[in-house]
Amino acid sequence: MHGSQHLPIRPLWLCRRCGAPWPCGPARLSLLAEYQGNRTALLFYLAMLKEEANVHLTSLNPSAPPRDLTNRFLSWVRAPR
Ligand SMILES: [Zn+2]
Repeated sequence: MHGSQHLPIRPLWLCRRCGAPWPCGPARLSLLAEYQGNRTALLFYLAMLKEEANVHLTSLNPSAPPRDLTNRFLSWVRAPR
């Protein structure tokens, strides 16, 4: 988990490694592995990050606040795999 992590660049919330909107695919897989069996904690963690991203992205572009953050940060956790 060192050197190759897919972590967000704040306040842009793009992946530091692959440039995709965070959480990118590899970041999602990594989080699911890290929080395996503890989905509630993962959702709590992602909800906090979502709020942080919302503040950052809204301040970067006040005229077009982000609208898809719940889907981007949370919905994929609940999806059956
Ligand atoms: Zn990535």
